[in-house]
Amino acid sequence: MKRVLVTGASGFIGSHLVSALVSDGVQVVGLDYAPPRFEDTVGELMGSPLFMPVHLDLTSDSLDAVVAGCDTVFHLAAKPGVRGSWGDDFGNYVTANVLGTHRLLEACWRARTSRVVYASSSSVYGAVRAPSGEDDDCRPMSPYGVTKLAGEQLCLAYARRHDNPLSVVALRYFTVYGPRQRPDMAFGRLLLAAYTGLPLTLYGDGTQRRDFTYVSDVVAATMAAAKIDAQEEIINVGGGASVSMIEAIDIASEVAGRPVPLTAVAAQPGDVPATRADLSLARELLGYQPAVDIREGLARQAEWLRGLPAELVSTFTTELSGSAR
Ligand code: NAD
Repeated sequence: MKRVLVTGASGFIGSHLVSALVSDGVQVVGLDYAPPRFEDTVGELMGSPLFMPVHLDLTSDSLDAVVAGCDTVFHLAAKPGVRGSWGDDFGNYVTANVLGTHRLLEACWRARTSRVVYASSSSVYGAVRAPSGEDDDCRPMSPYGVTKLAGEQLCLAYARRHDNPLSVVALRYFTVYGPRQRPDMAFGRLLLAAYTGLPLTLYGDGTQRRDFTYVSDVVAATMAAAKIDAQEEIINVGGGASVSMIEAIDIASEVAGRPVPLTAVAAQPGDVPATRADLSLARELLGYQPAVDIREGLARQAEWLRGLPAELVSTFTTELSGSAR
């Protein structure tokens, strides 16, 4: 990799990917339409000659100049979140996740880009058997999952164009956590509930299970996906263990040294009972092996949360009303 483009560079996973690429000596163009959510996100990279941040909207701005000269595009920009994708906001999910992906792929085609690594999601599977294999049927249980599947399939269609040098690796990430996690996601809220004593809204009875994946493992898989010999591949990236929300709450409480107060409400539409990744293909093609287990990962996230400025924590605290992804 000489020069790469990362879309969604200000976001949770994108910012970790940018840092890891720059540490490896790769020249990175980091595209996002929003400023970094956390001060530590890409602040440390701002002076680096290897990092060029660009503020563009994938859905409306011209992308040719930023895609040109990048041999690899890591496409992480998206409107994420299962629950918000029902109802009137769906148009924004389609615009960001489908039309934005389409515009990026058109720019890649014009630039003769050789590899796109697409951030897909376990939400494309729906309530299927666990562990899920890449060849399993996809039956998304949420509009968000539908847009991620559409984005994934669009990428693969462009890789099949006979006049396109593009190859695509779509990575199906399973619930990612760690420092800088999106404030709407479960683990940050769990830890915040422990520290503030404000109750966490738990959707369902807590028996829902997730294959929680620490962000540095996701980043390692994503970087490996840029280098493998492939024309079109779909590969699961999971944490390697299935953990229930109740178990996660217990671990968060141990890590924080305080109980996590809970308010239980009914499960929400789109919440699947369990996710679990079959990691055979990731091991074979990416040499992937998750390195951070949930106890260690939650401890690192808690340490990061404790170091955040008080004003930021207080804005999260006022929003502490959702949970369990
Ligand atoms: P995030 O919201 O933190 O990051 C996404 C970034 O994309 C944001 O900084 C946002 O500003 C940017 N963005 C959105 N629309 C844009 C547009 N039109 N133009 C330019 N920038 C735009 O989300 P994340 O959790 O880091 O997720 C990154 C990717 O991984 C997404 O594609 C998501 O669907 C996928 N994913 C995440 C998880 C997870 O557990 N976090 C799981 C599966 C898949």
